[in-house]
Amino acid sequence: MTLARTWSVGLAGVTGAMVEVEVDMSAGLPGVALVGLPDAVVRQSVDRVRAAVVNTGASWPMRRITIGLSPASMPKQGSGFDLALAAAVLAAAGAVPADAADGLVLLGELGLDGSVRPVRGVLPAVLAARRAGHRTVVVPAGNADEAALVDGAEVLPAGTLGDLVDHLSGRARLAAHARGPLPPPAPVPDLGDVVGQAAGRRAVEVAAAGGHHLFLTGPPGAGKTMLAERLPGLLPVLDERAALEVTAIHSVAGTLPPDAPFVSRPPFEAPHHSATMAALVGGGSGAIRPGALCRAHRGVLFLDEAPEFPRATLDTLRQPLERGAVTISRAAGSATFPCRAQLVLAANPCPCASAAGDAACTCSPLERRRYQARLSGPLLDRIDLRVELPPVGRAAWLGAGAEPESTTTVAARVAVAREAAAARLRGTGLALNSQVPGRLLRERWPVPRPALALAERALDRGLLSVRGLDRVLRVSWTLADLDGRPVPHADDVTEALGMRLQRVAA
Ligand SMILES: [Zn+2]
Repeated sequence: MTLARTWSVGLAGVTGAMVEVEVDMSAGLPGVALVGLPDAVVRQSVDRVRAAVVNTGASWPMRRITIGLSPASMPKQGSGFDLALAAAVLAAAGAVPADAADGLVLLGELGLDGSVRPVRGVLPAVLAARRAGHRTVVVPAGNADEAALVDGAEVLPAGTLGDLVDHLSGRARLAAHARGPLPPPAPVPDLGDVVGQAAGRRAVEVAAAGGHHLFLTGPPGAGKTMLAERLPGLLPVLDERAALEVTAIHSVAGTLPPDAPFVSRPPFEAPHHSATMAALVGGGSGAIRPGALCRAHRGVLFLDEAPEFPRATLDTLRQPLERGAVTISRAAGSATFPCRAQLVLAANPCPCASAAGDAACTCSPLERRRYQARLSGPLLDRIDLRVELPPVGRAAWLGAGAEPESTTTVAARVAVAREAAAARLRGTGLALNSQVPGRLLRERWPVPRPALALAERALDRGLLSVRGLDRVLRVSWTLADLDGRPVPHADDVTEALGMRLQRVAA
């Protein structure tokens, strides 16, 4: 036999596509030709595979070897094809039965010593293999738990190329990996830790209930980061489909914890303001990796000290956040990732960032205005909730007042409110108040006119744009849902208006 084939999976973003690996041996000058749009990493694969084969004790065929990866039009990226290449070469050379690797899907990078190394993107690759009708998948031992998340897949973990050779030749079969019970959702920081800050606590609750973007301002130490970190814990735990989707993104990003490779909580991503565009949105050389925005899919993207981010960076976020997806283009191809994330921005009121608040601020009015102006514009306009946090008072620290509610208590209220919204929106394909287009909201679910008096006055006085009014209406519905009212009252509209017009103190 001089021809053999096997299968692997190529990824574009989080979408996998089957790649057929064919190896043909012919007489002629010994050498290897690789055809089918491989990237530089795949081309180096031949050298790795050769070293691994030799170090495993097999001999490298001294023939003319042609390796074809098809479909040829699809770019092949990364090191995950090594194992499939090795199996096809060994089969074509007759070192293992020619048809042994025929129906298998193989994923994994080879070390020069023949070890099989974990790769990124195993979950979406195995999902693609299952969708294409393949059942048996050989994966690196370090990716076995992740691969076994896919229903109906027979996962064979391989530690070394030697293990695979033994399996293919029938000497010792690889044992199928059974997935243990899914790990329970990771613990989250508790809202009960946030002392005082009634307005901030209310804001994260409303944000969680309606899926609204949130902007928190306040002096350092007021608890902006603490509040933002507690938002994911107020959101419902991801259902299995959503969890697989989010886990697939983190698998491609290489950010899955190896001991518990399953993201079942809404993720929380907090990139620093010095982060590059590639780190924030996605990119990189070779295989395209999702950035913080995509890793925050179905969770929270927190931008602390938001005015310190370059303006262009913030503007880049606007469209993907609205579309719920981002497409990243590189010379080697493009990839689209979902990024339905909830945005939380935080800012100090001024550049001196006085912890005591306005009283001790040393900034000139011009400096303050300039600082705040950095955030103005289209991104800020899409934020429904803007809340100013006061410096935490002494009384709050000493524990005066009621015991703060815990995450469990507030999350239960959020869940009820989300159910109410989902029931109202049934049939529209939408689930959260923040997603409802303004026109649909006004036509299908008008807020009773008397309740709107204050908002209409704000509109007349130019304090509120028409789009701003739509945002007030959306938040009003969320407030009504939280309090179990069938339609918003004047109080809901007033509170929503307060959360919309709140400005950084000038
Ligand atoms: Zn200042």
